[in-house]
Amino acid sequence: MYMISIDAEKCEGCNECIDGCPVNILEMTDGKAVVIDGSESDCMGCETCVVVCPTAAPVIEEM
Ligand code: SF4
Ligand code: SF4
Repeated sequence: MYMISIDAEKCEGCNECIDGCPVNILEMTDGKAVVIDGSESDCMGCETCVVVCPTAAPVIEEM
């Protein structure tokens, strides 16, 4: 099981992680990518968001 979080301090709002997430659990709020409430543990751990992010804002934890 994986948990995803996004460091808002690092996010530049480029949208790449949102476009790339295969399970659509990321959205843009006030110019920052956020995990949709309650969807944190729906992350598949595919690392797409990590790979496409220019600022290393997404953090995946394996539980
Ligand atoms: S690791 Fe994959 S499934 Fe999880 S939030 Fe990132 S892109 Fe989506
Ligand atoms: S890819 Fe990184 S910088 Fe771009 S919206 Fe996602 S978290 Fe923010």
